[in-house]
Amino acid sequence: MLNSSLKQLSALLAQKEISSVELTCEFLKRIKALNPNYNAFITINEEMSLAQARNADAIIASGDAHPLTGIPIAQKDIFCTKGWLTTCGSKMLSNFISPYDAGVIEHFNKIGAVNIGKTNMDEFAMGSSNETSFYGPVKNPWNIATVPGGSSGGSACAVAARMAPAATGTDTGGSIRQPAALCGVSGIKPTYGLVSRYGMIAFASSLDQGGPIAKSAADLALMLNVMVGFDPRDSTTLQREKEDYTHDLGKPLDGLRIGLPREYFVKEMSDDVARAVEAAITEYRKLGAKTVEISLPNTKLSIPVYYVLAPAEASSNLSRFDGVRYGYRAPKYTDLNDMYQKSRAQGFGAEVKRRILIGTYVLSHGYYDAYYIQAQKLRRLIAQDFIEAFKQCDIIMGPTSPTTAFSLGEKSNDPLRMYLSDAYTIATNLAGLPGMSIPAGFGNEGKPVGLHIIGNYFSEAQMLNVAYQYQQVMDWHAQMPFTQ
Ligand code: GLN
Repeated sequence: MLNSSLKQLSALLAQKEISSVELTCEFLKRIKALNPNYNAFITINEEMSLAQARNADAIIASGDAHPLTGIPIAQKDIFCTKGWLTTCGSKMLSNFISPYDAGVIEHFNKIGAVNIGKTNMDEFAMGSSNETSFYGPVKNPWNIATVPGGSSGGSACAVAARMAPAATGTDTGGSIRQPAALCGVSGIKPTYGLVSRYGMIAFASSLDQGGPIAKSAADLALMLNVMVGFDPRDSTTLQREKEDYTHDLGKPLDGLRIGLPREYFVKEMSDDVARAVEAAITEYRKLGAKTVEISLPNTKLSIPVYYVLAPAEASSNLSRFDGVRYGYRAPKYTDLNDMYQKSRAQGFGAEVKRRILIGTYVLSHGYYDAYYIQAQKLRRLIAQDFIEAFKQCDIIMGPTSPTTAFSLGEKSNDPLRMYLSDAYTIATNLAGLPGMSIPAGFGNEGKPVGLHIIGNYFSEAQMLNVAYQYQQVMDWHAQMPFTQ
């Protein structure tokens, strides 16, 4: 059952082979056994999960079930969840019980899915290793001495260790795809604007996008069907006709043009990652696809551009955490200013403070034009690269991350090296494009490697099929770590 697909679990529930309460208990049992080692969950609330499961069983009995009714889903702790502690991985929100549900959570509630727990994450989603969490790092289930990636490391770990059949994540510069790659699971960041950001605690609003992490592309499609949708409370969500993301699954790949960016296959990519990615591309050729070399000439600019724009937006978004409206307040202070200062000094961790400082700097008078405006112009050029590239190909492939999972602590004192973890993923956020990562085998020491698939705007159904076809012939995604 731990390895079952969402479709299989759904069938078991429909045929009454198992109840949602039983299924929920199974996963809660596994979380209780494994979480002390992996630290993938910040909050588990058995009572609330079981209440949802009982409700789901009633929906199933009434014959009104949706494919994911009664299925336990792990929710990244960035999504406000009514009645649940919602921390965003920060001390700042360590006492915040959300009074309302995020748009994404509402969607899952509406169809009767079960929230199995809130997953650990880098503080305010800033990080690539899950080490910036106030709740301590998450461990990679494939090798407990290594990081799971970040910032959705708790969700990726939960799915990899089979503590949940599927999970949600968010991706501002790679936070769904990079942890999915490092943990050997599948994840997709949809086109910007498809998933509501309402109640999804904001990091960099023009880049943040929610999406699913699951074992397979077929499972991701079912998750996306629930998550995508216009939300009048998020002015950047798009009003589009509802799409069934399972629609394309099974279509042959004959003639598919895969673009391989010259700039991605470079020495920064480690040999074991290169080997696995090249082997995956060979498989695609066998499936009928052809490859074309393309160029994304501004690739090198993505990290510098991102580290101007994301901190700029973060410095503004995080100004709301002032110790007054909600969240942490310093216990001792002399006056209002002192209270602001102490609350923020004590409530935020080092990485968050670094971003706020950078963001405030690049937005300040005299530097705004030199940094912020310049970065916005370059962002446009990066997006333009992709528009040109998609004239020559249907899909782009490369590595998700330049290396496999690195050791805990290895990069935590070297922010620049840490930032390079997202060298391949960040450009898609800057361009607003969809990107996904699927398991493509193992590198040195048996660590998972992720294949990165970038699609054109709104090509999620096609991308999922591209991943699905590979998962019909290769079974990397079905392999699970020996859990301890
Ligand atoms: N690692 C990147 C950062 O720290 C991306 C994080 C994310 O996608 N949330 O900003």
